[in-house]
Amino acid sequence: MPERLESRLAEVRERVAAAARGAGRAPDDVTLIVVTKFQPVDLVQRLRALGVADFGENRHPEARDKAAAVPDAAWHFIGQLQTNKARQVARYVDALHSVDRADLVHALRDADLDVLLQVDLDGDTPGRGGAAPPELGPLAEAVLATGHLRLRGVMAVAPRDEEPARAFARLEAASDQVRRVAPDASWISAGMSGDYEAAIAAGATHVRVGAAITGPRSTPG
Ligand SMILES: *Cc1c(COP(=O)(O)O)cnc(C)c1O
Repeated sequence: MPERLESRLAEVRERVAAAARGAGRAPDDVTLIVVTKFQPVDLVQRLRALGVADFGENRHPEARDKAAAVPDAAWHFIGQLQTNKARQVARYVDALHSVDRADLVHALRDADLDVLLQVDLDGDTPGRGGAAPPELGPLAEAVLATGHLRLRGVMAVAPRDEEPARAFARLEAASDQVRRVAPDASWISAGMSGDYEAAIAAGATHVRVGAAITGPRSTPG
């Protein structure tokens, strides 16, 4: 149903722009990353034809195959990444949003890559990835010390059981903390289908929207 894809994309784009304006920011201050995980390559191609220039994926090698099929776009890796896959992923992604530990930085030290530090906003529930706020300063230093990786900012997923605005306020504080070490690391990657407007209100520069545009996924995640 191509018309439905197009209208859902148009609606999200409008709402992103409106949320940006509502926060006193320019609409093009916010980058819409369309998350295509578990979706077929032809859907990525249709989105590309509709002008989508940024795509998000969370698993290797699915991400690699889509990036190879649609090379004229920016590919964002947004999932947890095993250290032994890091170098392979670095070959085809433009930005890695999920850097959360020193051994990953070490594995990637020679890569030509934008990186974001994933922040754990959910201290009590481990397992979704992310560094605890006190680890961010040292992790930022480790990225800068590579002399190669480009530290762009921070990323997070809001906890399920909390009002997103409160969680995103903590992410803003984490962003300030990282920018004390790396003043140019101004990206804030936050917001999914259910909470991207709240994320923009809290300063998100990159939103990662899947289901609201692509429709439901057959596999959860
Ligand atoms: C799947 C996913 C998204 C997109 O989620 P939707 O609810 O489909 O918009 C965003 N960020 C991450 C890290 C994800 O894994």
